[in-house]
Amino acid sequence: MTKCFVCGKSSILVSKALNVCLECIRNEPAKASSYIEEAHSVSRRPFGLPPKPPRDPNGIQCRLCVNECRIPEGGISYCGLRTNINGKLSGVSPEEGKLSWYHDPLPTNCVADWVCPGGCGAGYPEYAYSEGPEYGYKNLAVFFQACSFNCLFCQNWQFREETLTAKKRNVKELVDDVDKETSCICYFGGDPTPQLPFAIRASRLALEQKKNRILRICWESNGTMNRGLLNEMIELSLKSGGCIKFDLKSWNKSLNIALTGVTNKRTIENFSIVAGRIRERPDPPLLTASTLLVPGYIDEEEIRNISEFIASLDKGIPYSLLGFYPHFRMSDLPVTSKDFALKCKEIAEAAGLKRVRIGNVHLLS
Ligand code: SF4
Ligand code: SF4
Ligand SMILES: [Zn+2]
Repeated sequence: MTKCFVCGKSSILVSKALNVCLECIRNEPAKASSYIEEAHSVSRRPFGLPPKPPRDPNGIQCRLCVNECRIPEGGISYCGLRTNINGKLSGVSPEEGKLSWYHDPLPTNCVADWVCPGGCGAGYPEYAYSEGPEYGYKNLAVFFQACSFNCLFCQNWQFREETLTAKKRNVKELVDDVDKETSCICYFGGDPTPQLPFAIRASRLALEQKKNRILRICWESNGTMNRGLLNEMIELSLKSGGCIKFDLKSWNKSLNIALTGVTNKRTIENFSIVAGRIRERPDPPLLTASTLLVPGYIDEEEIRNISEFIASLDKGIPYSLLGFYPHFRMSDLPVTSKDFALKCKEIAEAAGLKRVRIGNVHLLS
């Protein structure tokens, strides 16, 4: 049981990571904000990451993501990938990135496998090798070792240990590993956003060399990129049969800042932009959404608002509700219950969504 520092309520659904309950985050954001800032600052310190996006008016600006860091001389960016050395931005580039990759036989446990070409043959024969799961082919899973968010429940939090120290790898090394059994490349992490120039360059090179084969370009992201990069991602996925998978962490803005350290404004805008392009290639779906059901923080109201938003854009957008397993700073919360996940599915369907699925079923209690 943890006590909320704002209202004094004790509950197993208040995480020690935040020390603030959902109601106070929603209804008393001014009172909750100092605890929230402290929670993120403390969580980033062991990895040498700055507590907030740097805002030095004389610093060098990066505009790749919503954080729009202004990095002071000798300082480091929020994502940890960029520094200002003698007035020049240094770090990763379209040629060199901080990432790792591996091949995964298809069908994988990708969040979109239930609607995508590799998982179920959607878009066959133009975008898939078979009418069902693409047995005999592989996904190239590309894991970026940095992120533009700071989720306190991050399921892949270990990447932070290497964000500052990882050796950079050349884009050609990655592209050389796209062999003829590779039928999709999926960028995830961390998040592809802070290294999108690298991912876009890799994708273009891979598509140039694939020569009349199917090679889908897919993304799993928090959706915080700038508009220009988003447009390039859309073009790559549209023409290759790939899919853009956005995680919509929460609807309430204060809650998003509490859970991830960053606003969801850009994510919501970007999701709407991608949704506006769905009709250009309806099958396989260009866009999917997912939300992690974090006990105590992602409640029915959040799922209703997110579902109504998605349905207002296109009722056919596939939506995955993901079971939470205690991780990183929020390891004191329980796993998502099956009853709650089923209730959320009902809510999403009542909002009009036609394709709703509960993912990570094995994690539910
Ligand atoms: S967006 Fe994903 S990778 Fe980034 S901090 Fe959140 S959960 Fe972790
Ligand atoms: S990509 Fe990194 S450096 Fe650029 S604005 Fe985002 S967090 Fe800052
Ligand atoms: Zn409270």
